[in-house]
Amino acid sequence: MPKRLEIDWQWPKLLKSKVFFDRSAATTMRKKLVVGNWKMHGRLESNRGLLEGVRDAAITSCEVAVCVSYPYIAQAQSILADSGVTWGAQNCSEYDLGAYTGEVAPAMLADFGCRYVLLGHSERRTLYGETDAVIAAKFGAARAAGLTPILCVGETLTERVAGETLAVIDRQLAAVLNTAGVEALRKTVLAYEPVWAVGTGRTATPDQVQEVHAAVRAKIAAASPAVADGIQILYGGSVKPQNARELFAKTDVDGGLIGGASLVLNDFLAICRATN
Ligand code: PEP
Repeated sequence: MPKRLEIDWQWPKLLKSKVFFDRSAATTMRKKLVVGNWKMHGRLESNRGLLEGVRDAAITSCEVAVCVSYPYIAQAQSILADSGVTWGAQNCSEYDLGAYTGEVAPAMLADFGCRYVLLGHSERRTLYGETDAVIAAKFGAARAAGLTPILCVGETLTERVAGETLAVIDRQLAAVLNTAGVEALRKTVLAYEPVWAVGTGRTATPDQVQEVHAAVRAKIAAASPAVADGIQILYGGSVKPQNARELFAKTDVDGGLIGGASLVLNDFLAICRATN
């Protein structure tokens, strides 16, 4: 008997949406992942303490990664190589090479052992005007270089209040899916980051997060149940040691993308440990 998979393709107002994803069909045990986004913070000396501390903590309850500023990727590589902790960048060019002064090609990141690259972070979208189309192009370029994109999506407060949360996320996801196809999500991480929660100290409630994550997974399941089952969907937005466990306990929350708290070693480690 085929399992029920029912999606409201129109993604109406969040509270009215009807989204079902039959979990009895799911087979994958997704490992939790916690990624630190250092943003434009860090210097050689302070980085060393953080990187060595994360490395030496030898966390096993989840995968751990840090996305550092470009100049410090080599430092991350030298300290984290051969540890269980992986590293990545916070952005990359959509181009492979050429006359793009100031840009960094995905293959350059791969040269320094990056596994991940953040794409579509709300700060890139709002402060640097990155459009869905640019992010989709970066996504394709990153994958072609063997990187795993961490694709960030999320709504502003105005959009949430207007009931447009899922419509916004649908648009952001569709830009990538329409160019790369659903299979490209096999080696992709998604991060739901409501813009109103990023760097504000205001966290979405676990139920709000679960609702969006479940809807995103169901949307992907409509195209490929296997991809939906396997993809890690992280939550980001003022995750702290105090709220991490409750967020990570939700069925469709596969870990976190951590900004401010990733700069404080003990806080970051406590958040990682909240995945157990
Ligand atoms: C982020 O920068 O991706 C983020 C979630 O930041 P913060 O944890 O500080 O809200």
